[in-house]
Amino acid sequence: LNSLLAATPTTIFTVITALAQKHGAVNLGQGFPDTEGPADIVQAASDALHDNRNQYAPLTGLPELREAVARGNKRFFGLDIDPATGVVVTSGATEALAASLAALLDPGDEVVLIEPLYDTYLPTVRLLGAVPRLVRLLPPERPEEGWRLPREALRAAFGPRTKLLLLNSPMNPIGKLFDAEELAFIAGLLREHDCYAVCDEVYEHLVFDGARHVPLMTLPGMRERCVRIGSAGKSFSLTGWKVGYVSAPAPLAAAIAKAHQNLVFATAPNLQRAVAFGLDKDAGYFQELADDLQRKRDLLSDGLRRLGFGVLPSGGSYFVVADLRPLGTELDDDGFCRLMTREAGVAAIPVSAFYGSPDAPRHLVRFAFCKREAVLRDALARLEAAM
Ligand code: PMP
Ligand code: GLN
Repeated sequence: LNSLLAATPTTIFTVITALAQKHGAVNLGQGFPDTEGPADIVQAASDALHDNRNQYAPLTGLPELREAVARGNKRFFGLDIDPATGVVVTSGATEALAASLAALLDPGDEVVLIEPLYDTYLPTVRLLGAVPRLVRLLPPERPEEGWRLPREALRAAFGPRTKLLLLNSPMNPIGKLFDAEELAFIAGLLREHDCYAVCDEVYEHLVFDGARHVPLMTLPGMRERCVRIGSAGKSFSLTGWKVGYVSAPAPLAAAIAKAHQNLVFATAPNLQRAVAFGLDKDAGYFQELADDLQRKRDLLSDGLRRLGFGVLPSGGSYFVVADLRPLGTELDDDGFCRLMTREAGVAAIPVSAFYGSPDAPRHLVRFAFCKREAVLRDALARLEAAM
């Protein structure tokens, strides 16, 4: 057995979902919407299934989807991407991340990663024989404050062996959007050290309070260094479809296509055609998606605050993080999540699961709010009854 994989625990999302099912709990752990995505997109997939779209798609994706990804880059972010040479369609952002890292890294290369971090990043980097350099965001001292980027620690993580930075914005699990100054600082380091960035932007359209997501790729000098990853799962509330897309300069996209050809080769064509249809939806669709999630964020955040949790700001994603300290509990995040699932019937994810070492913060819990309002109200009522 591969020793690294043997030592990798089952993902926290699967563990908590199983625990939620065992206890009949409302699952605010794993981040997936509990309603179907847009009916017209689902219909487009169904039509494609019955329209002879069931054999292998082209390696880098259906031309119509690559063109729609390029149009989306232009329309939302002003980015010029060549659909023929700059887009690779993947089986989810998870595969896009793995293929991008495989394409860019040699064993011994260093990768700068920012904690807390999504759970596939570290195992994937390590499996490739690359060396992670972890930099921690500073958790807020008081709930209403945001997480801060420790600039000198980030600078110190770069060295002669650094090949790339992996940047997730908007960020899972904390809902942080990197602001213009932070992005400019990061871009400066990438230029100074001649590095790439793999940008996990799956929550690009799920941003709140009138803010806009800014891809690192749009900053000066970043066009040739950045790989930008999106996910139809998040943009169309169809997480089970596992359709992702990479936008990158042609030489990087070609290398990523080589990784994709060995990992998956080609992604389901009927789903690709439906996602192409979805990406051309008008701006109102994407705005309504964000507005709906913002209302849900507010419903859950206000409710948690009323129950005595500290609630940290979330500017985007499916998630809000709560601080347990104001509750005066003796339990750490993991113990609290297990007790809450068992006794209150509400499941959430301990934020320490998003760290690479055991000395993680232990007072934070991630709640997913991408659920129907009735479900969020039920969860809050269950918590109130148990507290
Ligand atoms: N990156 C982040 C930050 C995510 O939250 C997710 C989804 N949970 C993924 C990647 C994976 O996306 P997909 O389901 O398209 O593989
Ligand atoms: N991305 C989702 C989350 O953060 C879960 C994805 C998964 O279960 N692998 O909850």
